[in-house]
Amino acid sequence: PRNFFIGGNWKMNGSVAQVKSLVEGLNSINVPAQTEVVVSPPAIYVDRVRNNLKKDIGVAAQNSYVKASGAFTGEISPEQLKDLGIDWVILGHSERREYFAESDKFVGEKTAHALKAGVNVIACIGEKLEEREANITSEVVTRQLKGVADEIKDWTNVVVAYEPVWAIGTGKVATPEQAEEVHVTLRNWLAANVSKEVAENVRIIYGGSVNAKNAAELATKPNIDGFLVGGASLKADDFNIIVQAR
Ligand code: 13P
Repeated sequence: PRNFFIGGNWKMNGSVAQVKSLVEGLNSINVPAQTEVVVSPPAIYVDRVRNNLKKDIGVAAQNSYVKASGAFTGEISPEQLKDLGIDWVILGHSERREYFAESDKFVGEKTAHALKAGVNVIACIGEKLEEREANITSEVVTRQLKGVADEIKDWTNVVVAYEPVWAIGTGKVATPEQAEEVHVTLRNWLAANVSKEVAENVRIIYGGSVNAKNAAELATKPNIDGFLVGGASLKADDFNIIVQAR
């Protein structure tokens, strides 16, 4: 009985005006029982969102660094997030792996540091199209998961987000069967390499072109514990439908 988890990743989108209207929309959402909702604005808006959003919706940053403070221009520490009442961070998103050359190991280290600072982590993994076509999806996603597993022991405050890169922002959603297959692979890997308990309890959510139309069917799969939503999280009505998907 894992709680359903819906994350809204706004990526580098928004303005003061748009953030205000998104927060108003979120404040009118009815969060169902056994459901957790977390939205992730760009860092510059995180504080404003936390201060204006009702408390039963969480707020995540989209990145954090491996140090508490110091001469690391442009970075943000999980300790600083915590200072603002931000309880979550998205780490290892494919856009960061791709455009900012984040390695499996670095994502694992950032995860460990965030957890140590008391910030929960949405850890993202997922294969590229050429990797799926080469039939190495399982190898890629378990290698990425191992990057995290090598650095942490306690998975209580981790949500794993499976986001196939070919499905992100493309409108090409994975089928429920494709997503379920990878989620089962990840759970089996955790059972064999971490523990049965972690495999059973960790939420594994799906991301990649999730929208108001396809969410309910994906949510029927037993190993899909929720979604990480990009584009559709910028539309209050669509995001609300996804929150109610299970
Ligand atoms: P889209 O929902 O826009 O495909 O983005 C998914 C994603 O990357 C969420 O982190």
